[in-house]
Amino acid sequence: MIKLVAFDWNGTILADTSAVVAADNAVLKYFGLPKTNLKKVQATYIIPVRDFWLNMGLDTKLFDANSEKIVSLFMETYEPFEQVSRTRSGVRETLIWLTKHNLDTVIISNHVLEHIQIQLKRLKLADYFNQVLARPRGDNSHMHSKSKELKLKDYIKATGLKPKEVVVLGDTEEEIEISKNFGCYSIALTGGNVSTIRLKKEKPDYLIHNLIELKKIIKDLNQ
Ligand SMILES: [Mg+2]
Repeated sequence: MIKLVAFDWNGTILADTSAVVAADNAVLKYFGLPKTNLKKVQATYIIPVRDFWLNMGLDTKLFDANSEKIVSLFMETYEPFEQVSRTRSGVRETLIWLTKHNLDTVIISNHVLEHIQIQLKRLKLADYFNQVLARPRGDNSHMHSKSKELKLKDYIKATGLKPKEVVVLGDTEEEIEISKNFGCYSIALTGGNVSTIRLKKEKPDYLIHNLIELKKIIKDLNQ
């Protein structure tokens, strides 16, 4: 019986892939590296973000000396786009359905908590989530480690849920890996920051193209 759905934020709830690509390009330009595009990002995006930047051509020394600068350059370009980003298709309808059926929902993210809260308010979605598990401003742990797994672990422990009562849904390999580590169900959403080929390789329990498909999966699992 599924009781909790843990959603990723960037590329899953928020349709911000074009904002990410623009912000990546601002960083690449600063370091005199060639421009990227969505296809290339989907082929290389990885958490911790440090590995992504190394894939994009930054050398280790340059990255380590400039990791704070990279965060600020990225955010400078990302933020104005974030303010106008819409939700991915099917988000609202799915959240309304989950709420109606008394399922708990949380957001697990490597993004800044305050940013997510502002966007949830703007998009009138704040009431649909029990909690947002993300990093405080100034905590740049996402650059070097995979911190959201630990946040979800604490949450599941505190709520006393069993692994098979939890679904983790996201647009990257990270959420599939988290699900497998916990023994939860994994749902991968295509069209975000990682290519469909890469998602398939990780063998998620379900691969969906629109969030609306979540309803049927939960109905089937809860039968
Ligand atoms: Mg994501």
